[in-house]
Amino acid sequence: MTARILLIEDNPQNRYLTRFLLEQRGHTILQAETGPEGLELAATARPDLILLDIQLPGMDGHAVARALKSDPHLRTIPIIAVTSYAMVGDREQCLAAGAEGYIEKPINPESFVAEVERFLLPSPKGIVHDARVDR
Ligand code: MN
Repeated sequence: MTARILLIEDNPQNRYLTRFLLEQRGHTILQAETGPEGLELAATARPDLILLDIQLPGMDGHAVARALKSDPHLRTIPIIAVTSYAMVGDREQCLAAGAEGYIEKPINPESFVAEVERFLLPSPKGIVHDARVDR
């Protein structure tokens, strides 16, 4: 199954790699470079999934996630936080802000698409949980 995925990321190299990997698998990528631009695109395009960089200038990823989850029209779209913080508690902060998933940078081209596609499966919660336990 292919999806329309919104990528909110300010780093051009990360945008390029992410888009390349996902388009190779037939997904359509919409791109925003800032939080406000991402929120606008989410509202107009209604993507199937949002990949959200946390380190964004101005409005950071946590604020973007909270804004998405406080909007009744957008809150059902799964969010995957993509972050290079790799600090204790970072994952929990992202999940607390409303993200359903968390992927650490640098992006691993071998596993990235499979990790993203887990969130496109039907009844994501249970299946995602099982998939993680298996690793
Ligand atoms: Mn960034």
